[in-house]
Amino acid sequence: MSASALTASAPRTTNSAASKGAFDLSLEGIRLCRDAGLKVGVRFTMTKDNFQDLPGLLKLVEDEGIDRFYFSHLNYAGRGNTNRRDDALHQMTRSAMDLLFDACREYQERGLNKEFTTGNNDADGVYLLTWLQARFPEKLEHIRKKLVQWGGNSSGVNVANIDNLGNVHPDTMWWHYNLGNLRQRSFGDIWLDVSDPLMAGLKAHPRKVGGRCGACAHFDICGGNTRVRAQQLTGDPWSEDPGCYLSDEEIGVA
Ligand code: SF4
Repeated sequence: MSASALTASAPRTTNSAASKGAFDLSLEGIRLCRDAGLKVGVRFTMTKDNFQDLPGLLKLVEDEGIDRFYFSHLNYAGRGNTNRRDDALHQMTRSAMDLLFDACREYQERGLNKEFTTGNNDADGVYLLTWLQARFPEKLEHIRKKLVQWGGNSSGVNVANIDNLGNVHPDTMWWHYNLGNLRQRSFGDIWLDVSDPLMAGLKAHPRKVGGRCGACAHFDICGGNTRVRAQQLTGDPWSEDPGCYLSDEEIGVA
């Protein structure tokens, strides 16, 4: 490649210029969809570098009349049990969840109809109960039953992923684990085949998970959270989820 070509392409690859352009163009697209009467949503994956943007994004959702906000947890794998209560990233996650729950409550009180979804951490349901306990204790039992009915993580059960080559995976995070290919077997055959050890474990009810998940008082709500996170960190998909941000007291193992 020539020096002039490198120079010419440089501005399009610098982060600040690219992100500014992408933001403005995305917002323009959102406005066009909204004005055409389409239901629109924004998705936010939180990291320690963008945590401070969350209040501004929630304001944007309101100012722009956006219908749906999807909050995705980043996989904070690698952080063990030590100092879980004081861990800055876990505290950040808890603050973000408080912010979301408070925003939902405020929207409801003001009669604004918006949908909020959180993803990639099934401990959110349990954390919602701790939030309710302090604010609406009379609702606790009803919401708990709803969460148990939901049943927590459902990768390999109610969630599936088929990649661009036709390979089937338990969900989008399991692309390194191939259950079979649709050109060789039907989806039904692949999906119900519990001779595969991972699928046998995911479809077990309740799942057999070890560590603090196995001892957790809220396993029926969370289902042991994200198995791929445990597998990636420890090599064992049935060990506890290292992404749990709840304290030992909150899960009843203290
Ligand atoms: S300890 Fe495990 S099962 Fe319990 S809330 Fe945390 S991730 Fe879920």
